[in-house]
Amino acid sequence: MHVSRSTVRVALASALGLSLATAAQAQATARRPDPPATLTKEQLAAKEIYKQLVEINTTAEHGSTTKAAEAMAARFRAAGFPEKDIFLGGAAPTKGNIVVRYHGKGERKPLLLLAHLDVVEAKREDWNRDPFQFGEEDGFFYGRGSADDKPMASIFVASLIRMKAEGYVPDRDIILALTADEEGGPDNGVQWLIKNHMQLITAEYALNEGGGGSYKNWKPLLHAVQATEKVPVNYALKVTNKGGHSSVPVRDNAIYHLAVGLAKLADYTFPVQLNDVTKVFFERTAAIETPEMGAAMRALVKNPADAQAAATISKQPRYSSMLRTTCVATRLFGGHADNALPQLATANVNCRIVPNVPPEQIRQELLRIMGDTAITIAPTPALPPSAPSPLTAELMDPVEQLTKQMWPGTPVIPQMSTGATDGRFLREVGIPTYGVSGLFGDMDDNRAHGRDERTLVKSFFEGHEFLWKLVKSLTSRKPIS
Ligand SMILES: [Zn+2]
Repeated sequence: MHVSRSTVRVALASALGLSLATAAQAQATARRPDPPATLTKEQLAAKEIYKQLVEINTTAEHGSTTKAAEAMAARFRAAGFPEKDIFLGGAAPTKGNIVVRYHGKGERKPLLLLAHLDVVEAKREDWNRDPFQFGEEDGFFYGRGSADDKPMASIFVASLIRMKAEGYVPDRDIILALTADEEGGPDNGVQWLIKNHMQLITAEYALNEGGGGSYKNWKPLLHAVQATEKVPVNYALKVTNKGGHSSVPVRDNAIYHLAVGLAKLADYTFPVQLNDVTKVFFERTAAIETPEMGAAMRALVKNPADAQAAATISKQPRYSSMLRTTCVATRLFGGHADNALPQLATANVNCRIVPNVPPEQIRQELLRIMGDTAITIAPTPALPPSAPSPLTAELMDPVEQLTKQMWPGTPVIPQMSTGATDGRFLREVGIPTYGVSGLFGDMDDNRAHGRDERTLVKSFFEGHEFLWKLVKSLTSRKPIS
C-alpha cells in the first residue's frame, strides 16, 4: 500500500487499538504463535519464492519490478506454462508487470489475483538488518516487502504453479497480475494494464491486498475483507487581491479571507453516509468493541440520523473517517513581502470522499461551508464512480467458512479503507475487488513501510493455506474440505 494510503489493517487496528487499549493493558501478553515444526514441500516452495521476491529490490528509487516480474516468469516457464500465457510489459524499463493466465473450463468469467511487486524505499542505515536480505528470526520473516505485499505475490505464484503440478482444472480462468508502482510513482501497473491491455485482466472480480487479520495480544481478533475505499481528491483554494502598502491595511485581505474560510471548514463535520460495506462493518465491529462504542455502532446502523450515536463513534478519528467524507487543510501559502498587503493566499484541502459522491459536489459544498466569495476552488477532474464491491455469498461464504475453520470465533469484518489501494482502479472499470488474504499481523506492531518490516512465520503459512483453499473454492464450486 502507498505510504499515504493506510492499510485496512492499520486503519482498523488503530481504531480498535485506541478504544481497546484499557482491555489490552489488563490482559497478560499471550505467547507469540510458534512457526510450524516442519514444512511441507508446498510450504517450502512458497517460502522459496517469497525469499526470492524479498531479495529483489523493487523500490521505485533504486530497484526494478521488471527484475521481479522476469524472475517469476522464469518460474512459470519452468513449471510448464506456455509462453503465450505469460505477459511481461510496463510503462518504463524498470516498471515491469507480469500477467499469467491459468486456463480453466471457461464456465464463468475469470478470477483475477492481484498483488504489487514494488516496495517502499528502505535504507540500510535505518534498519537493524539488510532490508533486501530475507531473514528468519524469532518466529518472523524479515525484509522490505515481507508484509507489503510480497507474501500475497509469492503465495499466488506458488499456488498457480502447484495447481499446474497437480493437474487442477478450474471452472474459470485464473489470472494473476503482479504490478508496479502501487506505492506511488507515475507508472502504476494496474492503470497501465487497464489502459493498454484490458483484455488480459478482464475478470468477474478480483482478490487484492487491503484485507487480512489482526492479532491482539497474539489472539486473532478479526479478519477484515476490504470491499470499498474512499477517494482522495485535492482542492486548490485561492484568494487574490490587489494588495498595497502594509502601513495602510484594509479589511479586504487575501490571507484573512482564506483564514476565516479555513476556520469554518475546521469546525465543519460532513454528514454521516453509510453504505452496504460500512453498515456491516459497524454491525460486526460492535461485537468486539467496548459496550458504549458497540451500542453506538448498533444504534447508528439502525438509524443513521442518530446524532448522539454518531458523536460517540466520531470520538475515534478512524471510525469518524469511515462514517463520512472528510476534508482537511494540508498546505498553506500567502503573501509576497513582509511590508505588503498579500496579493495571493492559497491552501490545499485534501478530501477523502465516500464512494459514489462526485468530487464536484464536494467542491460546491466547500464553497458553501466557507461562505466567502473571495475564495475560489479550481475544479478537479471528474472521476469515474468507484462503487463498493457487493458482499456476495459466492465470496463471503467461503471466507467465513475458512475463517471459522482456521481461526475459530474470529469475526469476518467487511471494510471500507480510508486510504487508497490499486483496488480502486479495478472497481472504476467495473471489476469488483476484495482485499482478502488470511494473513494476520499484530495490530500493535504493523511495520509495513517502516523499519524491520516482518511477517509472522506462522501467519505466512496460514495465509498460504487460506488463499490456496479460497482460490480453489472460487474456481471449482466445490465445498471447502
Ligand atoms: Zn501494498
